[in-house]
Amino acid sequence: MMKVMKFGGTSVGSPDRMRSVIPLINDGEQNLVVLSAMSGTTNSLVEISDLLYAGKQEEAVHKIGLLREKYHKVIEDLYTTEQYKYKAFETVNSLLNDIDGLTSLKHSKQYEKIILSKGELMSSSMFYYLLLENNIDCVLLPALNFMRIDKDGEPDTYYIAENFRRELDAHPGHNIIITQGFICRNAQGETDNLKRGGSDFTASLLGAAVNASEIQIWTDINGFHNNDPRLVENTEVIREISFDEAAELAYFGAKILHPSSVNPAREKNIPVRLKNTMDPHDQGTIITSSYIPQDYKAVAAKDGISAIRIHSDRMLMAYGFMRKVFEIFETYKTPIDMVATSEVSVSITVDDSQHLDQIAHELQALGSVEIEKDQTIICIVGDFRADKKGSAPEIFEALNSISLKMISYGGSSHSLSLLIDTKDKTDALRLLHKYLFNH
Ligand code: ADP
Ligand code: ASP
Ligand code: MG
Repeated sequence: MMKVMKFGGTSVGSPDRMRSVIPLINDGEQNLVVLSAMSGTTNSLVEISDLLYAGKQEEAVHKIGLLREKYHKVIEDLYTTEQYKYKAFETVNSLLNDIDGLTSLKHSKQYEKIILSKGELMSSSMFYYLLLENNIDCVLLPALNFMRIDKDGEPDTYYIAENFRRELDAHPGHNIIITQGFICRNAQGETDNLKRGGSDFTASLLGAAVNASEIQIWTDINGFHNNDPRLVENTEVIREISFDEAAELAYFGAKILHPSSVNPAREKNIPVRLKNTMDPHDQGTIITSSYIPQDYKAVAAKDGISAIRIHSDRMLMAYGFMRKVFEIFETYKTPIDMVATSEVSVSITVDDSQHLDQIAHELQALGSVEIEKDQTIICIVGDFRADKKGSAPEIFEALNSISLKMISYGGSSHSLSLLIDTKDKTDALRLLHKYLFNH
Protein backbone atom coordinates (compact mmCIF):
# COMPACT_ATOMS: atom_id res chain seq x y z
CA MET A 1 0.00 0.00 0.00
CA MET A 2 1.17 3.44 -0.87
CA LYS A 3 1.48 6.38 1.46
CA VAL A 4 1.25 10.00 0.40
CA MET A 5 3.86 12.50 1.60
CA LYS A 6 3.23 16.15 0.80
CA PHE A 7 6.00 18.69 1.37
CA GLY A 8 5.00 22.34 1.60
CA GLY A 9 6.88 25.45 0.50
CA THR A 10 9.24 25.71 3.48
CA SER A 11 10.01 21.98 3.32
CA VAL A 12 11.48 22.46 -0.17
CA GLY A 13 12.37 26.12 0.38
CA SER A 14 16.18 25.87 0.17
CA PRO A 15 18.85 23.41 -1.03
CA ASP A 16 19.38 22.25 2.57
CA ARG A 17 15.68 21.69 3.13
CA MET A 18 15.36 19.74 -0.12
CA ARG A 19 18.30 17.54 0.85
CA SER A 20 16.75 16.81 4.24
CA VAL A 21 13.56 15.53 2.57
CA ILE A 22 15.51 12.69 0.91
CA PRO A 23 15.86 10.35 3.93
CA LEU A 24 12.21 10.96 4.84
CA ILE A 25 10.88 9.70 1.52
CA ASN A 26 13.54 7.04 0.97
CA ASP A 27 12.30 4.71 3.72
CA GLY A 28 11.83 1.54 1.69
CA GLU A 29 8.07 1.98 1.45
CA GLN A 30 6.14 3.01 -1.63
CA ASN A 31 5.65 6.76 -1.37
CA LEU A 32 3.78 9.24 -3.48
CA VAL A 33 5.61 12.54 -2.96
CA VAL A 34 3.53 15.67 -3.62
CA LEU A 35 5.59 18.86 -3.81
CA SER A 36 4.71 22.54 -3.44
CA ALA A 37 6.63 25.39 -5.02
CA MET A 38 9.65 26.68 -3.04
CA SER A 39 8.38 29.09 -0.38
CA GLY A 40 7.90 32.62 -1.69
CA THR A 41 7.73 31.51 -5.32
CA THR A 42 3.94 31.41 -5.73
CA ASN A 43 3.72 34.86 -4.13
CA SER A 44 6.33 36.15 -6.61
CA LEU A 45 4.42 34.60 -9.49
CA VAL A 46 1.20 36.26 -8.30
CA GLU A 47 3.04 39.61 -8.22
CA ILE A 48 4.36 39.07 -11.74
CA SER A 49 0.91 38.21 -12.99
CA ASP A 50 -0.62 41.24 -11.22
CA LEU A 51 2.01 43.54 -12.75
CA LEU A 52 1.20 42.21 -16.21
CA TYR A 53 -2.51 42.66 -15.52
CA ALA A 54 -1.80 46.28 -14.58
CA GLY A 55 0.12 46.76 -17.84
CA LYS A 56 3.48 47.12 -16.05
CA GLN A 57 5.51 44.92 -18.39
CA GLU A 58 8.91 46.31 -17.49
CA GLU A 59 8.46 45.72 -13.79
CA ALA A 60 7.19 42.20 -14.49
CA VAL A 61 10.22 41.40 -16.65
CA HIS A 62 12.46 42.71 -13.86
CA LYS A 63 10.73 40.43 -11.32
CA ILE A 64 11.09 37.43 -13.60
CA GLY A 65 14.79 38.25 -13.80
CA LEU A 66 15.06 38.25 -10.01
CA LEU A 67 13.32 34.90 -9.80
CA ARG A 68 15.69 33.50 -12.44
CA GLU A 69 18.69 34.70 -10.43
CA LYS A 70 17.31 33.11 -7.29
CA TYR A 71 16.78 29.74 -8.97
CA HIS A 72 20.22 29.83 -10.58
CA LYS A 73 21.75 30.26 -7.12
CA VAL A 74 19.72 27.39 -5.73
CA ILE A 75 20.77 25.14 -8.61
CA GLU A 76 24.46 26.03 -8.15
CA ASP A 77 24.22 24.93 -4.52
CA LEU A 78 21.83 21.97 -4.89
CA TYR A 79 23.78 19.72 -7.28
CA THR A 80 27.37 18.56 -7.16
CA THR A 81 27.73 17.47 -10.80
CA GLU A 82 27.81 19.71 -13.89
CA GLN A 83 25.52 17.23 -15.63
CA TYR A 84 22.63 17.81 -13.19
CA LYS A 85 23.27 21.53 -12.86
CA TYR A 86 22.90 21.70 -16.62
CA LYS A 87 19.68 19.64 -16.67
CA ALA A 88 18.12 21.77 -13.92
CA PHE A 89 19.20 25.04 -15.62
CA GLU A 90 17.61 23.89 -18.86
CA THR A 91 14.30 23.00 -17.22
CA VAL A 92 14.04 26.09 -15.02
CA ASN A 93 15.07 28.41 -17.85
CA SER A 94 12.52 26.93 -20.19
CA LEU A 95 9.73 27.32 -17.59
CA LEU A 96 10.71 30.94 -16.86
CA ASN A 97 11.03 31.64 -20.60
CA ASP A 98 7.38 30.62 -20.94
CA ILE A 99 6.50 33.44 -18.51
CA ASP A 100 8.75 35.88 -20.37
CA GLY A 101 6.89 34.90 -23.53
CA LEU A 102 3.60 36.04 -22.01
CA THR A 103 4.81 39.51 -21.04
CA SER A 104 4.33 41.00 -24.49
CA LEU A 105 0.78 39.64 -24.89
CA LYS A 106 -2.44 41.16 -23.57
CA HIS A 107 -2.82 39.67 -20.09
CA SER A 108 -5.72 37.32 -19.39
CA LYS A 109 -6.96 35.25 -16.43
CA GLN A 110 -5.68 32.18 -18.24
CA TYR A 111 -2.11 33.54 -18.30
CA GLU A 112 -2.27 33.98 -14.54
CA LYS A 113 -2.97 30.24 -14.20
CA ILE A 114 -0.10 29.37 -16.52
CA ILE A 115 2.28 31.66 -14.63
CA LEU A 116 1.27 30.24 -11.23
CA SER A 117 1.81 26.66 -12.42
CA LYS A 118 5.53 27.25 -12.97
CA GLY A 119 6.43 27.20 -9.26
CA GLU A 120 5.45 23.56 -8.69
CA LEU A 121 6.83 22.57 -12.10
CA MET A 122 10.23 24.02 -11.13
CA SER A 123 10.45 22.57 -7.61
CA SER A 124 9.35 19.08 -8.67
CA SER A 125 11.86 18.87 -11.55
CA MET A 126 14.66 20.13 -9.35
CA PHE A 127 13.85 17.60 -6.66
CA TYR A 128 13.56 14.81 -9.22
CA TYR A 129 17.04 15.62 -10.56
CA LEU A 130 18.38 15.75 -7.02
CA LEU A 131 17.24 12.17 -6.39
CA LEU A 132 18.67 10.98 -9.71
CA GLU A 133 21.99 12.64 -8.96
CA ASN A 134 22.01 10.71 -5.68
CA ASN A 135 21.27 7.44 -7.49
CA ILE A 136 17.84 7.10 -5.90
CA ASP A 137 15.32 5.47 -8.19
CA CYS A 138 12.15 7.51 -8.73
CA VAL A 139 9.70 8.69 -11.35
CA LEU A 140 8.16 12.14 -11.94
CA LEU A 141 4.50 11.99 -12.99
CA PRO A 142 3.09 15.28 -14.37
CA ALA A 143 0.05 16.35 -12.34
CA LEU A 144 -1.40 18.01 -15.43
CA ASN A 145 -1.93 14.50 -16.85
CA PHE A 146 -4.40 13.49 -14.13
CA MET A 147 -5.42 16.34 -11.79
CA ARG A 148 -8.63 17.88 -13.08
CA ILE A 149 -11.46 20.14 -11.92
CA ASP A 150 -14.93 20.22 -13.44
CA LYS A 151 -16.89 23.20 -14.75
CA ASP A 152 -17.86 24.17 -11.17
CA GLY A 153 -14.22 24.16 -10.08
CA GLU A 154 -14.69 20.97 -8.05
CA PRO A 155 -12.19 18.11 -8.38
CA ASP A 156 -13.29 15.47 -10.86
CA THR A 157 -12.51 12.56 -8.56
CA TYR A 158 -13.48 9.87 -11.06
CA TYR A 159 -11.22 11.33 -13.75
CA ILE A 160 -8.38 11.79 -11.26
CA ALA A 161 -8.55 8.21 -9.99
CA GLU A 162 -8.77 6.67 -13.49
CA ASN A 163 -5.99 8.75 -14.97
CA PHE A 164 -3.67 8.63 -12.01
CA ARG A 165 -3.91 4.83 -11.90
CA ARG A 166 -3.24 4.69 -15.63
CA GLU A 167 -0.08 6.80 -15.16
CA LEU A 168 1.03 4.57 -12.30
CA ASP A 169 0.49 1.41 -14.34
CA ALA A 170 2.52 2.90 -17.18
CA HIS A 171 5.47 3.41 -14.82
CA PRO A 172 5.67 0.27 -12.67
CA GLY A 173 8.42 -0.72 -10.28
CA HIS A 174 9.25 2.59 -8.59
CA ASN A 175 9.11 3.11 -4.84
CA ILE A 176 9.28 6.88 -5.06
CA ILE A 177 6.72 8.63 -7.21
CA ILE A 178 6.93 12.42 -7.42
CA THR A 179 4.26 14.82 -8.59
CA GLN A 180 3.28 18.48 -8.32
CA GLY A 181 0.75 19.74 -5.81
CA PHE A 182 -1.66 22.61 -6.53
CA ILE A 183 -1.74 22.47 -10.35
CA CYS A 184 -4.44 20.84 -12.44
CA ARG A 185 -6.44 21.22 -15.63
CA ASN A 186 -9.95 22.60 -15.84
CA ALA A 187 -12.95 21.25 -17.75
CA GLN A 188 -11.62 22.85 -20.97
CA GLY A 189 -8.26 21.15 -20.48
CA GLU A 190 -6.49 24.43 -19.71
CA THR A 191 -3.92 24.80 -16.94
CA ASP A 192 -5.59 25.72 -13.65
CA ASN A 193 -5.01 25.28 -9.91
CA LEU A 194 -6.69 24.22 -6.69
CA LYS A 195 -6.43 27.71 -5.10
CA ARG A 196 -3.77 28.92 -2.69
CA GLY A 197 -2.50 26.22 -0.36
CA GLY A 198 -3.93 23.64 -2.79
CA SER A 199 -1.06 21.14 -2.57
CA ASP A 200 -2.68 19.73 0.57
CA PHE A 201 -5.81 19.12 -1.49
CA THR A 202 -3.79 17.36 -4.23
CA ALA A 203 -2.27 15.07 -1.58
CA SER A 204 -5.65 14.19 -0.14
CA LEU A 205 -7.32 13.66 -3.54
CA LEU A 206 -4.53 11.37 -4.72
CA GLY A 207 -4.46 9.55 -1.39
CA ALA A 208 -8.17 8.85 -1.80
CA ALA A 209 -7.67 7.86 -5.47
CA VAL A 210 -5.19 5.09 -4.57
CA ASN A 211 -6.62 4.21 -1.14
CA ALA A 212 -3.37 5.23 0.51
CA SER A 213 -2.46 3.84 3.93
CA GLU A 214 -1.84 7.37 5.23
CA ILE A 215 -1.67 10.95 3.95
CA GLN A 216 1.22 12.87 5.49
CA ILE A 217 1.36 16.65 5.27
CA TRP A 218 4.92 17.78 6.02
CA THR A 219 5.19 21.44 6.96
CA ASP A 220 7.09 23.90 9.18
CA ILE A 221 5.26 23.32 12.48
CA ASN A 222 4.70 20.28 14.73
CA GLY A 223 1.06 19.80 13.79
CA PHE A 224 -2.32 21.35 14.40
CA HIS A 225 -2.15 24.00 17.11
CA ASN A 226 -5.10 24.98 19.28
CA ASN A 227 -4.97 28.60 18.04
CA ASP A 228 -3.26 30.61 15.30
CA PRO A 229 0.46 30.56 16.25
CA ARG A 230 1.08 33.62 14.08
CA LEU A 231 -1.14 35.77 16.32
CA VAL A 232 -1.28 34.09 19.70
CA GLU A 233 1.52 33.09 22.06
CA ASN A 234 1.79 29.72 23.82
CA THR A 235 -0.40 27.80 21.41
CA GLU A 236 -0.15 24.04 21.80
CA VAL A 237 -0.12 21.05 19.47
CA ILE A 238 -3.24 18.89 19.38
CA ARG A 239 -2.00 15.31 19.10
CA GLU A 240 -5.25 13.70 17.94
CA ILE A 241 -8.22 15.30 16.25
CA SER A 242 -11.18 13.98 14.28
CA PHE A 243 -11.81 14.52 10.57
CA ASP A 244 -14.90 16.60 11.37
CA GLU A 245 -13.06 18.86 13.78
CA ALA A 246 -10.04 19.30 11.51
CA ALA A 247 -12.25 20.01 8.49
CA GLU A 248 -14.11 22.68 10.43
CA LEU A 249 -10.87 24.36 11.57
CA ALA A 250 -9.34 24.21 8.10
CA TYR A 251 -12.47 25.63 6.52
CA PHE A 252 -12.63 28.39 9.11
CA GLY A 253 -9.10 29.61 8.59
CA ALA A 254 -6.45 27.35 10.16
CA LYS A 255 -3.82 27.89 7.46
CA ILE A 256 -2.02 24.63 8.15
CA LEU A 257 -4.53 22.80 5.93
CA HIS A 258 -6.28 23.80 2.70
CA PRO A 259 -10.01 24.26 3.48
CA SER A 260 -11.17 21.28 1.39
CA SER A 261 -8.27 18.95 2.03
CA VAL A 262 -9.81 16.88 4.82
CA ASN A 263 -12.87 15.75 2.81
CA PRO A 264 -11.32 13.21 0.40
CA ALA A 265 -9.42 11.56 3.29
CA ARG A 266 -12.52 11.52 5.49
CA GLU A 267 -14.61 9.87 2.75
CA LYS A 268 -12.11 7.02 2.44
CA ASN A 269 -11.28 6.98 6.16
CA ILE A 270 -7.55 7.49 5.48
CA PRO A 271 -5.60 8.93 8.45
CA VAL A 272 -3.97 12.31 7.82
CA ARG A 273 -0.76 12.99 9.72
CA LEU A 274 0.71 16.49 10.07
CA LYS A 275 4.48 16.48 10.56
CA ASN A 276 7.30 18.99 10.86
CA THR A 277 10.18 18.58 8.36
CA MET A 278 12.43 20.50 10.77
CA ASP A 279 11.58 18.09 13.61
CA PRO A 280 10.79 14.79 11.85
CA HIS A 281 10.88 12.66 15.01
CA ASP A 282 8.07 14.59 16.67
CA GLN A 283 4.83 12.61 16.41
CA GLY A 284 2.88 15.59 15.01
CA THR A 285 -0.92 15.49 14.78
CA ILE A 286 -2.98 12.55 13.61
CA ILE A 287 -6.43 13.16 12.09
CA THR A 288 -8.76 10.14 12.10
CA SER A 289 -12.44 9.31 12.47
CA SER A 290 -12.11 8.88 16.24
CA TYR A 291 -13.54 11.66 18.31
CA ILE A 292 -12.22 12.54 21.75
CA PRO A 293 -14.69 14.93 23.42
CA GLN A 294 -13.08 17.92 25.09
CA ASP A 295 -14.87 21.10 26.19
CA TYR A 296 -12.65 23.26 23.99
CA LYS A 297 -10.19 21.91 21.48
CA ALA A 298 -9.12 24.72 19.17
CA VAL A 299 -9.94 28.13 17.75
CA ALA A 300 -9.49 29.42 14.19
CA ALA A 301 -10.42 32.58 12.32
CA LYS A 302 -11.40 33.29 8.73
CA ASP A 303 -11.09 36.82 7.33
CA GLY A 304 -12.56 38.44 4.26
CA ILE A 305 -16.14 37.76 5.28
CA SER A 306 -19.09 39.96 4.25
CA ALA A 307 -22.31 40.05 6.22
CA ILE A 308 -25.58 40.68 4.39
CA ARG A 309 -28.69 41.69 6.35
CA ILE A 310 -32.10 41.54 4.72
CA HIS A 311 -34.96 43.21 6.54
CA SER A 312 -38.54 42.69 5.40
CA ASP A 313 -41.93 42.88 7.08
CA ARG A 314 -43.14 40.40 4.49
CA MET A 315 -41.06 37.79 6.24
CA LEU A 316 -43.35 37.87 9.29
CA MET A 317 -45.21 34.54 9.54
CA ALA A 318 -44.45 33.87 5.87
CA TYR A 319 -43.16 30.64 4.46
CA GLY A 320 -40.95 30.31 1.38
CA PHE A 321 -39.11 33.56 2.14
CA MET A 322 -35.82 31.83 2.97
CA ARG A 323 -35.98 29.79 -0.21
CA LYS A 324 -36.20 32.98 -2.26
CA VAL A 325 -33.22 34.41 -0.41
CA PHE A 326 -31.12 31.27 -0.78
CA GLU A 327 -31.99 30.89 -4.46
CA ILE A 328 -30.32 34.20 -5.20
CA PHE A 329 -27.08 33.00 -3.62
CA GLU A 330 -27.39 29.76 -5.56
CA THR A 331 -27.78 31.62 -8.87
CA TYR A 332 -24.41 33.25 -8.26
CA LYS A 333 -22.81 30.02 -6.98
CA THR A 334 -21.95 31.80 -3.74
CA PRO A 335 -21.71 29.54 -0.68
CA ILE A 336 -23.19 30.76 2.60
CA ASP A 337 -21.29 30.27 5.86
CA MET A 338 -23.46 31.57 8.71
CA VAL A 339 -27.18 32.34 8.95
CA ALA A 340 -29.18 34.02 11.72
CA THR A 341 -32.85 34.92 11.54
CA SER A 342 -35.46 36.89 13.47
CA GLU A 343 -39.14 37.46 12.63
CA VAL A 344 -38.41 40.20 10.16
CA SER A 345 -34.78 39.89 9.20
CA VAL A 346 -32.14 37.43 8.15
CA SER A 347 -28.37 37.81 8.32
CA ILE A 348 -26.08 35.79 6.10
CA THR A 349 -22.31 35.66 5.71
CA VAL A 350 -20.27 34.82 2.62
CA ASP A 351 -16.55 34.75 1.97
CA ASP A 352 -16.76 34.91 -1.81
CA SER A 353 -17.74 38.51 -2.52
CA GLN A 354 -17.23 38.31 -6.32
CA HIS A 355 -20.96 38.67 -7.05
CA LEU A 356 -21.94 40.60 -3.96
CA ASP A 357 -23.25 43.62 -5.87
CA GLN A 358 -25.51 41.52 -8.10
CA ILE A 359 -26.71 39.48 -5.12
CA ALA A 360 -27.52 42.65 -3.15
CA HIS A 361 -29.36 44.07 -6.13
CA GLU A 362 -31.59 41.00 -6.47
CA LEU A 363 -32.16 40.79 -2.71
CA GLN A 364 -33.56 44.33 -2.76
CA ALA A 365 -36.68 42.88 -4.40
CA LEU A 366 -37.28 41.04 -1.09
CA GLY A 367 -36.55 43.78 1.41
CA SER A 368 -34.01 46.36 2.49
CA VAL A 369 -30.42 45.16 2.26
CA GLU A 370 -27.36 46.15 4.27
CA ILE A 371 -23.85 44.90 3.63
CA GLU A 372 -20.95 44.97 6.03
CA LYS A 373 -17.47 44.04 4.78
CA ASP A 374 -14.20 43.30 6.64
CA GLN A 375 -15.77 40.76 8.95
CA THR A 376 -14.15 37.68 10.50
CA ILE A 377 -15.65 34.37 11.54
CA ILE A 378 -14.18 32.89 14.69
CA CYS A 379 -14.72 29.16 14.89
CA ILE A 380 -14.40 27.40 18.24
CA VAL A 381 -14.13 23.64 18.04
CA GLY A 382 -15.09 21.71 21.14
CA ASP A 383 -17.84 19.61 22.63
CA PHE A 384 -21.15 21.34 21.91
CA ARG A 385 -23.35 18.26 21.83
CA ALA A 386 -27.01 19.01 22.51
CA ASP A 387 -27.27 16.93 25.70
CA LYS A 388 -24.35 18.71 27.31
CA LYS A 389 -25.17 21.22 30.04
CA GLY A 390 -23.77 24.75 30.26
CA SER A 391 -23.69 26.46 26.88
CA ALA A 392 -20.06 27.48 26.71
CA PRO A 393 -20.15 30.34 29.25
CA GLU A 394 -16.36 30.79 29.05
CA ILE A 395 -16.64 31.93 25.45
CA PHE A 396 -18.97 34.80 26.21
CA GLU A 397 -17.07 35.70 29.34
CA ALA A 398 -13.84 35.85 27.32
CA LEU A 399 -15.37 38.03 24.63
CA ASN A 400 -17.06 40.45 27.00
CA SER A 401 -15.14 43.39 25.50
CA ILE A 402 -15.70 42.46 21.82
CA SER A 403 -18.81 43.24 19.74
CA LEU A 404 -20.33 39.98 18.59
CA LYS A 405 -22.19 40.49 15.29
CA MET A 406 -23.63 37.01 14.85
CA ILE A 407 -23.55 33.71 16.72
CA SER A 408 -24.10 30.25 15.31
CA TYR A 409 -24.68 27.57 17.92
CA GLY A 410 -26.30 24.20 17.43
CA GLY A 411 -25.59 23.84 13.73
CA SER A 412 -22.81 21.44 14.56
CA SER A 413 -22.20 19.39 17.70
CA HIS A 414 -18.50 20.13 17.60
CA SER A 415 -18.25 23.78 16.70
CA LEU A 416 -19.59 27.21 17.48
CA SER A 417 -18.99 30.24 15.26
CA LEU A 418 -19.07 33.95 15.90
CA LEU A 419 -18.90 36.93 13.59
CA ILE A 420 -16.80 39.92 14.61
CA ASP A 421 -15.14 42.92 12.94
CA THR A 422 -11.78 41.95 11.49
CA LYS A 423 -10.12 44.71 13.51
CA ASP A 424 -11.09 42.80 16.69
CA LYS A 425 -9.72 39.46 15.51
CA THR A 426 -6.34 39.37 17.23
CA ASP A 427 -7.84 40.51 20.54
CA ALA A 428 -10.60 37.94 20.28
CA LEU A 429 -8.20 35.08 19.53
CA ARG A 430 -5.95 36.08 22.45
CA LEU A 431 -8.84 36.45 24.86
CA LEU A 432 -10.29 33.10 23.87
CA HIS A 433 -6.90 31.51 24.31
CA LYS A 434 -6.56 32.90 27.80
CA TYR A 435 -10.04 31.87 28.91
CA LEU A 436 -10.37 28.52 27.15
CA PHE A 437 -6.86 27.08 27.31
CA ASN A 438 -4.74 28.94 29.87
CA HIS A 439 -7.23 29.28 32.68
P1 ADP B 1 3.09 24.80 3.85
O1 ADP B 1 3.86 25.77 3.02
O2 ADP B 1 3.93 23.68 4.38
O3 ADP B 1 1.83 24.34 3.19
P2 ADP B 1 1.56 26.69 5.40
O4 ADP B 1 2.24 28.00 5.61
O5 ADP B 1 0.53 26.62 4.35
O6 ADP B 1 2.70 25.60 5.15
O7 ADP B 1 0.92 26.16 6.77
C1 ADP B 1 1.69 26.09 7.95
C2 ADP B 1 1.52 27.37 8.75
O8 ADP B 1 0.16 27.51 9.15
C3 ADP B 1 2.27 27.39 10.05
O9 ADP B 1 3.59 27.83 9.88
C4 ADP B 1 1.45 28.34 10.93
O10 ADP B 1 2.01 29.62 10.96
C5 ADP B 1 0.12 28.44 10.21
N1 ADP B 1 -1.04 28.11 11.06
C6 ADP B 1 -2.17 28.84 11.19
N2 ADP B 1 -3.02 28.27 12.04
C7 ADP B 1 -2.43 27.14 12.48
C8 ADP B 1 -2.83 26.12 13.40
N3 ADP B 1 -4.00 26.14 14.03
N4 ADP B 1 -1.95 25.12 13.64
C9 ADP B 1 -0.76 25.09 13.02
N5 ADP B 1 -0.34 26.01 12.13
C10 ADP B 1 -1.16 27.03 11.86
N1 ASP C 1 2.33 26.85 -4.03
C1 ASP C 1 0.93 27.02 -3.78
C2 ASP C 1 0.71 28.18 -2.81
O1 ASP C 1 1.67 28.79 -2.37
C3 ASP C 1 0.26 25.78 -3.29
C4 ASP C 1 0.77 25.24 -1.96
O2 ASP C 1 1.86 25.56 -1.52
O3 ASP C 1 0.03 24.46 -1.36
O4 ASP C 1 -0.41 28.51 -2.54
MG1 MG D 1 -0.05 25.26 2.88
